[in-house]
Amino acid sequence: MREIEINREGHLMFAGADTVRLAEEYGTPLYVVDEGYIEERCREIKKTFIEKYPNANAVYASKALQTLDVCRTVSREGLGLDTVSGGEIYAALKAGVDPGKIVFHGNNKTPEEIRFAIDSNVGRFVADNEYELHLIDKIAGEAGKKAAVQLRVTPGVDSHTHKFISTGNIDSKFGISLEKETRNRIIKFAMESENIDLRGFHFHVGSQLMENDSHLMALDIVLNLIKDVKSELGFEAGELNLGGGFGVRYVDGEETVKVMDFTDPMMEKISGFCSSEGLILPQVFIEPGRWIVGNAGITLYTVGSIKEIPGIKTYVAVDGGMPDNPRPILYQAEYEAVVADKAGSAAGKTVSVVGKCCESGDVLIEKIAVADDIAGGDVLCVFTTGAYNYSMASNYNRIPRPAVVMVKDGKARLSVKRETWEDLISREI
Ligand SMILES: *Cc1c(COP(=O)(O)O)cnc(C)c1O
Repeated sequence: MREIEINREGHLMFAGADTVRLAEEYGTPLYVVDEGYIEERCREIKKTFIEKYPNANAVYASKALQTLDVCRTVSREGLGLDTVSGGEIYAALKAGVDPGKIVFHGNNKTPEEIRFAIDSNVGRFVADNEYELHLIDKIAGEAGKKAAVQLRVTPGVDSHTHKFISTGNIDSKFGISLEKETRNRIIKFAMESENIDLRGFHFHVGSQLMENDSHLMALDIVLNLIKDVKSELGFEAGELNLGGGFGVRYVDGEETVKVMDFTDPMMEKISGFCSSEGLILPQVFIEPGRWIVGNAGITLYTVGSIKEIPGIKTYVAVDGGMPDNPRPILYQAEYEAVVADKAGSAAGKTVSVVGKCCESGDVLIEKIAVADDIAGGDVLCVFTTGAYNYSMASNYNRIPRPAVVMVKDGKARLSVKRETWEDLISREI
């Protein structure tokens, strides 16, 4: 979470706006996104990475938070866009993103998605496996085009993060195994295909990482791969994609990290290795998602029932929960919260914040101290919900998805309309 600002009325401020007014005007639950913060994060990446190194490129992993508005903001700031499905590519194109700056990921792209991406002239495919590489080859051939491809490899590094968001270890559904025979067969196919322009390699070790050691270990492995593949097959990688995974602070006491804490040592390693091994310096890509948008977002809820079980605990129920934020139930994710209309009150009351779904597991925050005088009708703000909330939201229990409001310099605008009950049945026959 970020520093808290409180106005004279004791209301929590966010991006220069009074959060209690936002809740009144747009209703709750409400996702509030600070556009200025997204711009700042992009600019930091530009300054400390893209402009610092001659061969550096950054693409925003839009699965973290993909709205047309966010696509436009990051594109305006000069970043490319990572996508993982036809739907994400479709939305990115509708937002006006340059197709040449779109990177298409995913471990099981369908023929329909690949065709759409090829017809749309998407800039890069990150091929995840042999089956997919053959599909890309075939579909590009049919379209008379050459697909620019990076091959995703599995470096076999275990990252210090939740098992479900760790992706780089050997037993992973993602990427090509580095076992020599397998990788050489796949690389050779890509080299020889007339419909594939093999650019290089990609790895992504995991998400919400606060230390750079997994990235550095994976990088060592992939640099050696580049060297070996050059001598074994004569292919010299012109591109190296380091993935994303840079963590953000969710709760008090957690560290904050800078992208350059990861990229500086990696860039040093890359240039050192390439010059000592006589390799060309590849174009380097990074793919931050959460780091750009995590702390750009908050969620505002209205407090409903408060149940005190003497000697056990106090439950504070809000008008959203796992449908708008599945991360606690998926990853045991932790969050901070404040009673937005009583942000100045002493926070001495320990409660559990729960959602409104018919699931005992629908707990947003297991244990948190909130304003002593919390009551039904208050606005509760949960911080750091910019990443993997809106984009992971569901309609479980037929609960409409919240609206998204973008705020910049205190000015708010509706970015995504709240779903209605009518929307919920609109496709039913
Ligand atoms: C999810 C993902 C990212 C972004 O991860 P963050 O932790 O949000 O930075 C980047 N690259 C790939 C391949 C991913 O799957």
